[in-house]
Amino acid sequence: MNARIIAIGSELLGPLRIDTNSLAITERLNAIGVSVVQKTVVGDDRKELAAVIADALGVVDLIVCTGGLGPTADDVTREAVAELLGVPLDLDPTLLEGIQKRFARRGLEMPEINKRQAMVPRGAVVLPNPIGTAAGLLLEHQGTRILLLPGPPAEMTQMLEGIIRDHLTPTPDGRLFRRILKITGRTESDVDSLVQPTYARWPERRVPIDTTILASLGQIELHLTARARDASDAEDAFDVAEREVRDLLGESVYSADGSPIEAVVGRLLADRGWTIALAESCTGGLTTSRLTDIPGSSRYVEMACVCYSNAAKVAWLGVPQALIDEHGAVSERVARAMALGVRRRAGTTVGVGITGIAGPGGGSPDKPVGTVAIAVLAGDAERVQTFRFIGPRDSVKSQSAQAAMNLLRLLLLN
Ligand code: AMP
Ligand code: MG
Repeated sequence: MNARIIAIGSELLGPLRIDTNSLAITERLNAIGVSVVQKTVVGDDRKELAAVIADALGVVDLIVCTGGLGPTADDVTREAVAELLGVPLDLDPTLLEGIQKRFARRGLEMPEINKRQAMVPRGAVVLPNPIGTAAGLLLEHQGTRILLLPGPPAEMTQMLEGIIRDHLTPTPDGRLFRRILKITGRTESDVDSLVQPTYARWPERRVPIDTTILASLGQIELHLTARARDASDAEDAFDVAEREVRDLLGESVYSADGSPIEAVVGRLLADRGWTIALAESCTGGLTTSRLTDIPGSSRYVEMACVCYSNAAKVAWLGVPQALIDEHGAVSERVARAMALGVRRRAGTTVGVGITGIAGPGGGSPDKPVGTVAIAVLAGDAERVQTFRFIGPRDSVKSQSAQAAMNLLRLLLLN
């Protein structure tokens, strides 16, 4: 079974709002074995919308539309669909009563414009909306089912759950399952050249697996998708595939359950009962911010400081001025002294020091923009490394935080 998703709303074509509903819809459809084969964003325009729907009729099994079911004149989904299918819009008295009651509960009278939301294309199944005035609608035409859902994400999600439960049975050829392997410390081409010969064979397996490789800042994801009757078949196939990837990439694979690296590092710290203190310069606290995004991080995050100027590094962290004069503030020696200093101040097991040139100014031939020195100390063990990141300021910062957490992870693993 396949589907197209149409996100409706002129605001979604502008630069300020993004269509997130289609992601949530895709996730739920995949879970019952429906593949999404195309997505479209269309403005509040009857002609444009009708053309997009017409294009999919008789082509896919299911069209899921979201948005444009509101009471105002710019919400045209109902009318566009009725016109396209050549059916009249009938007033549904039960629906109207429900909307009136909703307003009455708030001590209000229903505005006349909301009457439009009780208009139903003839032949449509009305899907109740427990948390809003816009009902959903389910129609069928030329063998294609058309599902109209409201735009507000909370209403859309809740309604979709009910529809999947009551109207869309899982397809007999199984559901779609996904496993995400997260990798760091390698380039995309490195990962692909190592892993491609292996994942190229996965589609031929008994439970076939499709693979997508996605690179973002400081991180690569392998998305494995399998179609299977039940979860255990898919999980078994994923386990085998994951083992093959781990054999090839070793410790660069940091998670296989969707966890971000800050959660992985947090777990390693918590398991050991260790605590951590960070001294951040060029990252301005970003690493600590990410570590503390994880609930329960108070068990291991003791303190952190942003020591941006050389004077602060000397005064607060006890970095010797001579070290800065001799090696420069961006150097492995200074990163290490920062980590030592903050660990001593905080009395923690682990200390981290990060110092670098985020740019766009401040680079030199031997230390160009993007040079970042990171030191991680834990007990007697330490990892100190200099990186050369590329990209604008914010991306150097985020790659630095990612690299610091990866050094920390590797140190904790070994
Ligand atoms: P509507 O159904 O057109 O009345 O949508 C109402 C509101 O829901 C819009 O103003 C958006 O804030 C939100 N919305 C509509 N469509 C989407 C979408 N595809 N993704 C995320 N939010 C949406
Ligand atoms: Mg709208």
